[in-house]
Amino acid sequence: MADTDCIFCKIIAGEISSFKLYEDDRTYAMMDINPFNDGHCLVITKAHAVNLLDADGADLAAVLPTAQKIARALQAALEPEGINIIQANGPAAGQTVLHYHSHIFPRRLTDGAMMNWGHAPGDMARIEEVYNKIMAELASAV
Ligand code: AMP
Ligand code: ZN
Repeated sequence: MADTDCIFCKIIAGEISSFKLYEDDRTYAMMDINPFNDGHCLVITKAHAVNLLDADGADLAAVLPTAQKIARALQAALEPEGINIIQANGPAAGQTVLHYHSHIFPRRLTDGAMMNWGHAPGDMARIEEVYNKIMAELASAV
């Protein structure tokens, strides 16, 4: 179901142009028009969903094979030194377009993208406390 106010729904409907890379029944891939690096592109679900939390499971399952197809082409075409698959949910995660999308984010060793964090040892008691909260939700969701 499309959202008439959604820019990505308009792209899928052909009302706004894009650099389309690929589409199938459930997914659509295109170049990001504000690329961080050359080759930065997006895989979006054809069905409107705000993000991972409300997307259809079958649509999500279709996203990764499309991401793999695009990533392989990108790797062959541009030979980046790495590729991140990034997907934002909510404002603190940096989500600006409220239609599910995964970034195919080619990396260069010197690109300075601020998404790699160090590995500081965690507080095991705190981890267990948080773990128990999530487990309680999972148990009630089944
Ligand atoms: P996010 O900030 O994770 O929600 O990512 C949204 C992405 O969509 C940004 O990287 C934008 O550059 C990109 N974007 C926004 N409008 C368009 C558009 N019309 N065509 C392609 N990419 C877009
Ligand atoms: Zn949409």
